[in-house]
Amino acid sequence: MLGLMQDQPLLISHIITHAARHHGAAEVVSKTVEGGIHRYAYTDVERRSRRLARALQALDVRAGDRVATLAWNGYRHLELYYGVSGMAAVCHTINPRLSADDIVFIMRDAGDVLLFAETSFAGLVEAVAERLAGQVRAVVMMADRDRMPSLALPSGMALLCYEELIAAADEEYVWPGFDERMAASLCYTSGTTGRPKGVLYSHRSSLLHAYAISMADVIGLRAVDRFLPVVPMFHVNAWGTPYAGPMCGATLVMPGRHLDGASLAGLMNDERVSMSAGVPTVWLGLLQHLRASGQLLHTVQRITVGGSACPRMLFEAFATEYGVRVEHAWGMTETSPVGAYNAPRPSNAQLTGEAAMAVRVKQGRVPYGIDMRIVDDTGATLPHDGMRSGHLQVRGAWVCSAYFGEAPGSALDAEGWFATGDVASIDADGYMEITDRSKDVIKSGGEWISSIQLENIAVSHPDVAEAAIVAAKHPKWDERPLLLVVARPGRSIDKDAVLRVYEGRVPKWWLPDAVVVVDELPHTATGKLQKAALRARFRDYLIEQELLNGNSGKE
Ligand code: AMP
Repeated sequence: MLGLMQDQPLLISHIITHAARHHGAAEVVSKTVEGGIHRYAYTDVERRSRRLARALQALDVRAGDRVATLAWNGYRHLELYYGVSGMAAVCHTINPRLSADDIVFIMRDAGDVLLFAETSFAGLVEAVAERLAGQVRAVVMMADRDRMPSLALPSGMALLCYEELIAAADEEYVWPGFDERMAASLCYTSGTTGRPKGVLYSHRSSLLHAYAISMADVIGLRAVDRFLPVVPMFHVNAWGTPYAGPMCGATLVMPGRHLDGASLAGLMNDERVSMSAGVPTVWLGLLQHLRASGQLLHTVQRITVGGSACPRMLFEAFATEYGVRVEHAWGMTETSPVGAYNAPRPSNAQLTGEAAMAVRVKQGRVPYGIDMRIVDDTGATLPHDGMRSGHLQVRGAWVCSAYFGEAPGSALDAEGWFATGDVASIDADGYMEITDRSKDVIKSGGEWISSIQLENIAVSHPDVAEAAIVAAKHPKWDERPLLLVVARPGRSIDKDAVLRVYEGRVPKWWLPDAVVVVDELPHTATGKLQKAALRARFRDYLIEQELLNGNSGKE
């Protein structure tokens, strides 16, 4: 017997119509690339998104067509999220930090028919346009007529002005209804291990993910919140917050292109931001700025940190110096992204000091809708005892089933599990802790050493700005950890002092065999350490050092 309840498909357009009807006065505040602050309300977002959908119709965009964006977090990008997906086309957000070659590759792979770009990316657009001739019909600059750059585009690729399109469109558009499983947006993985792959989110998966992150034990936005997504809208849809924000009636404060500590602190205080989310690097930048300037954060209560492991000192420094609670989350492009969030349980809520911190630094536990397990090299499931590490697998309604262009289910095993490529332990309370990427783990004498744990400890040294652990070849142990460190501005590194921070915190045999001071570490377009490049450069370091020191390397 079927239930007798209304069958309303979960569509992205419903989020913005809800926000306009029931949170009409909540604001979207944007720092624009032109400079200055733009502010308007959800009623305006909904109205302009409808105009945009009408304009897209006029440009012959049909259901399922991919429409690309090259833009920071701002109000026009938000309109694209709703206008493009709302009319059943696919919003393909592109990471502008990728190389022109990678951008051409993913735009061809995606088959994008239009490109919306902010004026600050005019040069990048010119660098890719020629190679997209015959595919991309128009480039729409996200600006008004006065700020339109003059661009040399190939013939057949029109140059259009966003504000002119919006002004010319009428407001009669009615959001269409369709199957909630239709594609809504497309995001490519950062491609650290080869060419980027497309993850194609559906309306249903995006809505369920937005509901999930709105739970109190996840990001938990509220109508009284003023939320600043530092995580870019081109990085897994800003972790779903441009959907969850309007869903909950929270105000969105969009930071635009300047994500340095001073810009963020200024915007947070000026706009009375209560919550924020982003990768560890931006919080390290903010912390450095606050400490150097003496500035305080007057309204921020919580920040969500994910994308890479959050160093312990961030939890401590933000809490004790600025009264801000740092919350750890884990996810990936393939999981929309939130797959785990660290919130207390009755068993640990009362803990203090070291015991509390031991839980807080873990990546978190699954929200309802995600299931998680760890397996060994043979695929056998491992116990959730917090000790054993294994390959992390997930499944759930917002986990990808196949990459763009591939057969549904092709990214899963026979039981429907998706292999994350992460190595993790899960404790008896369900808290998952990432110990490595499968390919970054160090295998020393047959035992695994966690590079992430070693990196986190290294950055707790006051002279260390950033650290990377790579597996260096070793004649006896196969691989040994090598520590690469970047000094904080104005400081110099005493290698022995850095190694002393490990005392008592890890088994002795985990200690890095050598410390190398470098000027900087390479990062991917989403701010993660480029371990593959570092491994290639430092793989033979220990062996070379032994030879230099006159040792045969065979002992
Ligand atoms: P991306 O798809 O670019 O978002 O990258 C996803 C990967 O980032 C994951 O598979 C993890 O390796 C890593 N990652 C994300 N969040 C965390 C976290 N909190 N701690 C450690 N690694 C993380």
